[in-house]
Amino acid sequence: MGIATDCIHAGQEPEEVTGAVTVPIFQTSTYVQPELGRHKGFEYARTQNPTRFALERNLAALEKGKHGHCFASGMAAIDCTMRLLDGGDHVIAGENMYGGSFRLFDKVLRRFGLEFTYVDTSNVDAIRAAIRPATKMLYLETPTNPMMTITDIAASVAAVKGRGILTVVDNTFMSPYFQRPIELGADVVVHSTTKYLNGHSDSVGGVVVTTTDELGQKIGFLQNAAGAILSPFDSFLVTRGVKTLAVRMRQHDENGREIAAWLAKQPKIVKVYYPGLPEHPQHELAKRQMSGFGGMISFELGSYEKAKAFLDKVRLCSLGESLGGVETLISHPVSMTHGSVPVETREKLGITPGLVRISVGIEDVDDLKADLANAIAAL
Ligand SMILES: *Cc1c(COP(=O)(O)O)cnc(C)c1O
Repeated sequence: MGIATDCIHAGQEPEEVTGAVTVPIFQTSTYVQPELGRHKGFEYARTQNPTRFALERNLAALEKGKHGHCFASGMAAIDCTMRLLDGGDHVIAGENMYGGSFRLFDKVLRRFGLEFTYVDTSNVDAIRAAIRPATKMLYLETPTNPMMTITDIAASVAAVKGRGILTVVDNTFMSPYFQRPIELGADVVVHSTTKYLNGHSDSVGGVVVTTTDELGQKIGFLQNAAGAILSPFDSFLVTRGVKTLAVRMRQHDENGREIAAWLAKQPKIVKVYYPGLPEHPQHELAKRQMSGFGGMISFELGSYEKAKAFLDKVRLCSLGESLGGVETLISHPVSMTHGSVPVETREKLGITPGLVRISVGIEDVDDLKADLANAIAAL
């Protein structure tokens, strides 16, 4: 089946008793067992919930994986993935990651004996050079946030092949509609479902998709043991959101391309970072690895004062953290999402005080342009 069909139908069965076409919200903590020693496969709702199971099957199918496990947030999903490792294990991770992932690795997991090396993963030689005997995981994010740098997933997998190193990809920015890391050789895909998968800015959640029964069993065990499950109501919301993933992503992509090209023509915009622009240094790789470019764009205005003047002026584009919703969200990485990244790293990566990030929504693109033009005029 095509992916738009899978978004709607994969893992979704009509409910057994009534035939309800939509999987109901099983808002229960436990299940009555007909007799001692016999149950219907459902014992306790941290362990099993039919609403969550339906979403987990659906997301596993979309990412072309074998098992899905849903969590209370993207960070809970990433934390659970890292618990596949043991103290003393070494991880190679991207130097330009989601700030919350860096915080988890650097401020929490290091205390439990995990070691991390951060490299520019867009350079496969840098990945190769960081491998140690204790390396057990390669952790990638592509495109990166907010610089929109692309890592070649297939080449990275090849670089660590045959050494017992798991490749994990955070696919939040592209969604399985535009990029499927497992088809490129990744072992595990994680998402913040808060973003494009749910798509409506009304739920926080995460998912881990695995490629083997062994990995799926380990994640399932950890999910139940540590307990940060996605609630039945949030599972329902994300399932509902995913049904329109295909049409939403097409529109995010169409609007994203148009806004990026338009921004690139504005004399007051110093630089635009968007993999869909021919001048993006990895445009060819992006075209090969992704089937669209999506709605995430960053651009440089030149100074903090200009960024502030611009952000204070936008009306339709809402100033706020997060991304991937139907509404356009605009943010200032230095003071919002990337405040905890050391200044030297920020400067090296290009995360300057004049940088603005936009998550282009699916509004009428002319309305978005008019709002942005009005704010640019204030500079
Ligand atoms: C938001 C985000 C996360 C964290 O997800 P939460 O749902 O906020 O916990 C992880 N990775 C990326 C790329 C994100 O954008």
